[in-house]
Amino acid sequence: MFRGSAALLGALVLSVAACAQPTDEGGDRGDRLRVVAGFYPIAEAAEQIGGAAVEVDNLTPPGAEPHDLELSSDAVDTIIDADVVVYLGEGFQPALEDAVARTEGVVLDLLEGETLIQRGEDEHADEEEHAEEEEGAHDPHVWLDPQRWGRLVQRIGSALADADPDRADAFGSAARAYADELAELDEEFNEALGDCDRNTIVTSHAAFGYLADRYDLVQESISGVSPEAEPDPRRLSELAELVEREGVTTIYTETLVSPAVAETLAREAGVEVGTLNPIEGLTEEEVDDGEDYASVMRQNLGALRDGLGCAD
Ligand code: ZN
Repeated sequence: MFRGSAALLGALVLSVAACAQPTDEGGDRGDRLRVVAGFYPIAEAAEQIGGAAVEVDNLTPPGAEPHDLELSSDAVDTIIDADVVVYLGEGFQPALEDAVARTEGVVLDLLEGETLIQRGEDEHADEEEHAEEEEGAHDPHVWLDPQRWGRLVQRIGSALADADPDRADAFGSAARAYADELAELDEEFNEALGDCDRNTIVTSHAAFGYLADRYDLVQESISGVSPEAEPDPRRLSELAELVEREGVTTIYTETLVSPAVAETLAREAGVEVGTLNPIEGLTEEEVDDGEDYASVMRQNLGALRDGLGCAD
């Protein structure tokens, strides 16, 4: 359904663009907006909203994990030359934040002006200190709450409109259509998680804080807000106790980081392993299978229902 509005917009834009034929010479992108996205969910939203009127570069390649993304000098040039750059601040991708200061395009930090969740207090003190210096004090994973993401994609629409006011109406209506689909997804989550035996989710890294807040779940994560943080043996034994106490049946791993620690915890606690995908990027296989934000979120919903024992 996400594709429908973009296809319609694409058709409209194509008919307009037909008068001004872009050429392929020298990588000329015609009069398309050059949009740079920090990672997958932003790139998908920009493509859905902009259709054929935009050329979207996703800085985080398929299968890669976006936290602390390193940039090649070509990528830095792409950012500097962009018409629009959309990203998450708060130290999620510090190299991108540095490069953004050098572009004259429209710049949108989706975390700016948002009410954000503080980073978990259960993270190590030294990690916390390091975090506040280099990664900001807040949880960046706002895209995993479909309701909030619906509001944020409309800000992406506004940024595209700022860069290309002639297409503001088309961008605005495509952004609203996309937000409507996200509102539907939000409604599905509300209904499907309305009557469950448990509400605690044990996750790999702390990516699901906003999702948990939205649907009255409690997230307990093995590592903190950054996936590469070393797991703490004390944290693992706390989680093992919690699994037993709360009757947790499932430890959730994710797609882009090693499942080894989560699998060990699950084996030792005698519970199952499930997958919750934080949609920080799609794998090559997911791209080939035509997966997108909504389809992966629906897989997440199924995994949550299995793990939490939710009634039909
Ligand atoms: Zn993350």
